Amino acid sequence: MEKIRRTKVVDLLKREDFGAMVNVKGWVRTRRGSKQVNFIALNDGSTIHNVQIVVDLAKFDEEMLKHITTGACLSVNGLMVESVGSGQRVELQASQIDVLGTCDSAYPLQKKGHSLEFLREVAHLRPRTNTFGAVFRIRHNMAIAIHRFFHEKGFVYFHTPIITASDCEGAGQMFQVTTMNLYNLKKDERGAIVYDDDFFGKQASLTVSGQLEGELAATALGAIYTFGPTFRAENSNTPRHLAEFWMIEPEVAFNDITDNMDLAEEFIKYCVKWALDNCADDVKFLNDMFDKELTERLRGVLKEDFVRLSYTDGIQILEQAVAGGHRFEFPVYWGVDLASEHERYLVEEHFKRPVILTDYPKEIKAFYMKMNDDGKTVRAMDVLFPKIGEIIGGSEREADYDKLMTRIEEMHIPMKDMWWYLDTRKYGTCPHSGFGLGFERLLLFVTGMANIRDVIPFPRTPRNADF
Ligand code: ATP
Ligand code: MN
Repeated sequence: MEKIRRTKVVDLLKREDFGAMVNVKGWVRTRRGSKQVNFIALNDGSTIHNVQIVVDLAKFDEEMLKHITTGACLSVNGLMVESVGSGQRVELQASQIDVLGTCDSAYPLQKKGHSLEFLREVAHLRPRTNTFGAVFRIRHNMAIAIHRFFHEKGFVYFHTPIITASDCEGAGQMFQVTTMNLYNLKKDERGAIVYDDDFFGKQASLTVSGQLEGELAATALGAIYTFGPTFRAENSNTPRHLAEFWMIEPEVAFNDITDNMDLAEEFIKYCVKWALDNCADDVKFLNDMFDKELTERLRGVLKEDFVRLSYTDGIQILEQAVAGGHRFEFPVYWGVDLASEHERYLVEEHFKRPVILTDYPKEIKAFYMKMNDDGKTVRAMDVLFPKIGEIIGGSEREADYDKLMTRIEEMHIPMKDMWWYLDTRKYGTCPHSGFGLGFERLLLFVTGMANIRDVIPFPRTPRNADF
């Protein structure tokens, strides 16, 4: 086959130099036609769109043509011509076809229109579908948007460890990391496991958050963000929880809670705008296929200011809703940790736009959050989104050493391995704030997908770690 430099489909479909000889490589989506002429829809992953290949069957070897089946990989040389019927401006009249890879007839993606549940069972192949091609291109674009946003603002991308020996965030939720022989564990006289001989010489786990190390960095570099995988062994089988998910955690010295809210709002709007500006074809596809209000919802977020409301006022609104006859599955009262149904009521029914809820009861929030003067609430903020509920959780941090220690003692936090964190409050402490955005929750919003398992290539959830 004559060697011609490959053109990606995304670029080919924009070209106007009709009459040029080009080469495309990709996978067959469909093949149809008559005894004389066939039309192959070829996709190479560079765009949601296929390029149509017109094949004059008489010009090609019969044996070779048999191998052009759904899923087969082809290299095609052909003449680029203006198309009338394919829905594209451009199509190829094939002059040479090379079957790079035949496709066994057991290929599970023969037909279109598989359910998302089925596609999860073939997660190794689902990137070849229109839907997952779109989702993963958007995922990539969101990662780029995030780095650009912070880079343009002078934040430093700081890498926090994935393996950690500090378990103060919430013991039961961590995955242990060990090289010990589980069939022959060393125990002391009280039956407790002895970790002296383990790899790190102490109990270690996968991180649930990079925040604590992020605070160290912020009190040195000024403004940092992390962007990496985090792990939670919470046994919650919901459409919004993964055992392995990616989190973005900015942390900024001298920011108070209001600065923190401003940053969160500007950040999310930047990402949503990026998707509308840079992923238009993919967003439109998902809008048309799954969620007819997607584009409108994305535009809506850009238009309006987020509502800023205290937890106490939020509870009052929910209590009024209950008094007015609205039924929630879980009870509403001051002090309760809001359920997703409560968060979504505020966002979707009451305000009809994103809400930042602040000043939560200290009992339901982490030890490091700054105490308010009322002694009851802390300077926490959750950003609540339509269809998602909590998309961001953050706070102004307690900068005062003594107040922080009081909270640690009240909450019985094991601080044995946390001396390094406390040093931030001893050596030039400063006001600072930050938050965590769940990357997949952002993707749920931007793609309109309903299940978090469908916005990460290989989801890890309870009893599921295939692929
Ligand atoms: P939730 O109440 O929804 O379980 P959380 O309060 O435990 O979340 P945080 O500890 O505040 O979550 O984490 C910060 C952000 O990380 C959340 O706002 C959310 O976007 C995301 N997140 C938390 N847990 C998960 C998870 N299991 N899977 C995916 N994203 C998550
Ligand atoms: Mn939270």
